[in-house]
This record gives sequence, structure tokens and C-alpha cells, in this order.
Amino acid sequence: SAKKQGRNRHCWFDEIMEKELQTRNSLETEMRAGIPKGEFVPYYEQQIDLATGKLTGFEMLCRWESRTQGLISPEIFIPIAEETGMIGDLSLSVLRQSFENARHWDPSLTISVNISPIQLLDPWLAQKIVKLLVETGFPPNRLEIEITESSLFENLSLAQSIIGSLKNQGIKIALDDFGTGYSSLAHLRALPFDRIKIDRSFVTSILLNPESKAIVKAITGLGESLGMAITAEGIEDKETESELRTIGCAKGQGWYYGRPLSIEQTRAVLAERNLLPAKQVDVITVPQ
Ligand code: C2E
Ligand code: MG
Ligand code: MG
Ligand code: MG
Repeated sequence: SAKKQGRNRHCWFDEIMEKELQTRNSLETEMRAGIPKGEFVPYYEQQIDLATGKLTGFEMLCRWESRTQGLISPEIFIPIAEETGMIGDLSLSVLRQSFENARHWDPSLTISVNISPIQLLDPWLAQKIVKLLVETGFPPNRLEIEITESSLFENLSLAQSIIGSLKNQGIKIALDDFGTGYSSLAHLRALPFDRIKIDRSFVTSILLNPESKAIVKAITGLGESLGMAITAEGIEDKETESELRTIGCAKGQGWYYGRPLSIEQTRAVLAERNLLPAKQVDVITVPQ
């Protein structure tokens, strides 16, 4: 009967929702245990000076090396970390690892890190990051912090004050994924960004879609007038790279230069390019 069918269908949806909830709960439990075990690790995506082809640094992208499920994408675990309040600890754990890694690289190389909007609600965020920099000995002027525009909605004055403190330390601030979501030109006035990152969706379609190309050109010009550097995200082929070079976009990153690399793979790339000092020289302080 229809009534019976309806009830069955109802049960079936309940079962799916129950399963999803269980999966999520067990992921959450595994994440909580995984943070102190060092299962969340930095991967590195190369950033390139488009005019010279030189490697300028890396964007750190977090990965979860789960014992039970293998390598897990941030698209899956970052939202869970944000909802459960784990994001702060998780982020500090991967930031510490990446500062410790990058401190041994050539001093010309910068590192960009992503900070969640939730973290910009923590009044102690700047102090926590500065403490990590001091403890690891990584210079603040080689660090760039990427935030998205959604960071500015919840508590703009707190975000402004945190970002002011970070900038006072010499840390640079980039606006990530610009042109998507809730983009507003007013945001470019609300905070003194050092860099705008043009969202991958415009870059990917630049060769096929004249509107995308016009938008990339306009953002590049805007950056120039506002004194903000520009990075194009999501470059996947040579033709896109050369189009961006023609437009005058200064920096780029994307799969054309390789997928995000583990620390071992990153060291291999750096060694090949002579960007890894052969030997760590310890500073010896002579007692007076
Ligand atoms: P995002 O910061 O905008 O990072 C760019 C994403 O695009 C990365 O995905 C990267 O692997 C991918 N990508 C780069 N080049 C290409 C390309 O040429 N083609 C395509 N199709 N994709 C490309 P990923 O690593 O999965 O990261 C996704 C998002 O997760 C990041 O977006 C960032 O918002 C967030 N995320 C990653 N690590 C962290 C972290 O440590 N903390 C926080 N709060 N968020 C993070
Ligand atoms: Mg980013
Ligand atoms: Mg991005
Ligand atoms: Mg993104």
C-alpha cells in the first residue's frame, strides 16, 4: 500500500542520514585523536614568478594522513574542524610543521598559509602565530597569510585588529579566491591587503571565455592601482601561463607546475634547484 511504501521510504532516508551522521562522528573522533599524533601534515604547492619562471615560494595546503583511510582532502576535514572547534589546534599544528620545514630553505622563498574565518574570531590569533614564529625561528617577513572575504563578515573590527597586529610584525596578507562568493570591492578598502589571488574559476577559462579574460585583466589593473600584488591560481597549461604573462600578472601557481608536494618531494625539488642549503650551520654564541 501507499502508506506502507511511504513508511518504507521514510525508513530508507532515515538510514542514509543515520549512516552519514555515523561517518561524520567517527571522522570527528579520528580527527581529534589524529592532531596530537601528527596525522595532519603540510603539503606544498609551488608559486612561480611568471616573468622569470623562478620559484618564489610555496602555498602550504594541509592534508590528513589518516591511518585508516589514507590521504584526505581539506575540503572534507576543514569544515568538520571549523564546526567542532578543532580548527585552531589543527592549524597551529600544521603551521608549526611548515615553519620548521621552511626555516631550512633558501631565504628567498616565502610561504603562504590559509587561515579560516573561524580563526579570525580568536582575539589571541596574532599572538599565537607570532609565538610560533619566535619558537621556530622562521622570519615573519617570509610569511604570507591568506584569508577569504567571508572572514570579514562575522566581526570586521576584530579581523581588522588581528590583521593589523600581524602586519605590524611584517607578515603579509593576501585575499584568497577573489572574484567568487561574496566579493565586494569595499573589502579591498576595509583591509590593507598586500596581495590579491584571482580565483581559479576565472584563470581556468581565460582562453575560452572572453569575459573571464576581461575580469582577470581588470583585477590585475585594480591590483596595480591599489598597490596590491597579484597571483593567478589554477594554471593548468602553458597557453594559460603565457596569456597571464601578456596580461601582466606577476605570479602564478597551479597543476601546470606540479601537484601539491609532500615534504620529501618538496625537499627533492629544492635540492634540484640548489635552494636547499647543503648543511645547516648552527649559530655559535661566544661567551663574553
Ligand atoms: P585554496 O587556498 O584556494 O587552495 C587552492 C586549492 O586548489 C587547493 O586544493 C589546490 O590543490 C587546488 N589547485 C591548485 N592548483 C590547481 C589547478 O591547477 N587545478 C585545480 N583543479 N586545482 C588546483 P586543496 O589543497 O584541496 O585545498 C582546498 C582548500 O582547503 C584551500 O583552498 C583552502 O581554502 C583550504 N585549506 C587547505 N589547507 C588549509 C589549512 O591549513 N587551513 C585552512 N584553514 N584551510 C586550508
Ligand atoms: Mg589559498
Ligand atoms: Mg585559493
Ligand atoms: Mg579555496
